[in-house]
Amino acid sequence: MGNHLLVTIECLRSDHVSGLGYHKKTTPFLDRLIEDGIAFQNAYSVSTWTAPSLLSILTSSYPLRYKGKMGKARANIAQVFEENGFNTFAFGSSRIGKLRSCRQGFQNLRNKDCKMSERSEGFGISPDLPHLSWIRDFWRNNFVIHRVDETSRETVARLLRALEGEEGPFFAWIHMNDPHRPYLVGKESLSVFQFSQFRANFAAKKLSPQQKKKNLTFRDRVKFHIGKSLANKETMRNMVDLYDREIRLADRAIGMLFEGLRKEGKLHDTTFYITADHGEGFMEHGLLGHGPGERPRLYNELLQVPLVVWNAENQHERIRENVSLIDLSPTICDFASLSTPSHFAGKTLRRFFNGRKSASDGEIFCESSTIGWQRFAPEKAIIAVISGDYKYIWKSKGKDELYNLKEDSGEKENILNERKDMASKLRVKIDKHLEEVRKRGTKEEKERIKKSLSDLGAVRNREVN
Ligand SMILES: [Zn+2]
Repeated sequence: MGNHLLVTIECLRSDHVSGLGYHKKTTPFLDRLIEDGIAFQNAYSVSTWTAPSLLSILTSSYPLRYKGKMGKARANIAQVFEENGFNTFAFGSSRIGKLRSCRQGFQNLRNKDCKMSERSEGFGISPDLPHLSWIRDFWRNNFVIHRVDETSRETVARLLRALEGEEGPFFAWIHMNDPHRPYLVGKESLSVFQFSQFRANFAAKKLSPQQKKKNLTFRDRVKFHIGKSLANKETMRNMVDLYDREIRLADRAIGMLFEGLRKEGKLHDTTFYITADHGEGFMEHGLLGHGPGERPRLYNELLQVPLVVWNAENQHERIRENVSLIDLSPTICDFASLSTPSHFAGKTLRRFFNGRKSASDGEIFCESSTIGWQRFAPEKAIIAVISGDYKYIWKSKGKDELYNLKEDSGEKENILNERKDMASKLRVKIDKHLEEVRKRGTKEEKERIKKSLSDLGAVRNREVN
């Protein structure tokens, strides 16, 4: 039993965590947990933007399941805890609350007027960084309209308020918005524009229909809007610097969370699971930011995230095997000694503990698609399989890629033609994965899920479509 607290951090790529090898001291607090708890060196998110990534964490299912319809209700881990008598809480971005599978089971979200965050409109800038004003202008003027939610610190404060005086065991999920672009660098240095003004700016400077027809590339758009090239090294250094400063804010918020629970006398009864929804690109493969974008990508800067499990009793362990966040919910169930619903696609990561190696668990699958925030289209999908040192990226439109991650961690040299043997071996695994996700969502599958849920008694049948 005990309390269980899942922390997901926006856009935090693992190679920017100091405790996992980054050269800047970005995460002093998380580093202590990495040294003290169970840290996974090579954890992969399932997808590259918020909605499908969080969906796969909370429901232990792949986005492509149900023909990629992410809006369909899928049973999540909060329902498992709720059914077992835990109080359940979720705090974070209001955008996430739009996904039914992320809302259900959380008691504090039951009121439909209750947003996950108290502040969800406005656009933050950092007036102390005038030399970087073009970056803000870029986000504002380009196709990435970003509404800024509350800071991680504010989100933590709300969770702590909710937990004050809480008697029974709880399962809580907190989603921290730092370091999501446009890299605000702290509430204290923010000016907040009204959303309407922001939109007016966007409308005044957008591309003309003729220019849109030219189908400009991302780089062309940057040049058009701000007259600078993203290939400029100084520009990118500045951007990374802002991102790193945001990471530091998220790290402080984790520290604040620990301190708050210590004061409430709950720290020693709580197991923490700290990870990120996906990574962030800095033009390594032509993408600044993350998401489905103009062409979907599944490179490691977008997929590799930290994963740390900490409680007062566990021994320190550093696990170097490739692991997937599809396994996180089953792991949390395991720590809480609760049965894992049989339709969860993942299984507990405990199989890697105590130096154990599991030969049958070598494959990681990641998915992306070209459309929509909440939709996946199998006919427009790309899927990556990582097996040992190799990564194969299959694209529904062809032009597949193969990389040796050990020799080429930057994924620059496509060796598909040189290693046809490995390519066809991994292609078989992709086919199997596709077959598996296509099979799901069938009538038999739905019946199986209904049964699994009624065994748990967790969900009313009508919630499974
Ligand atoms: Zn995200």
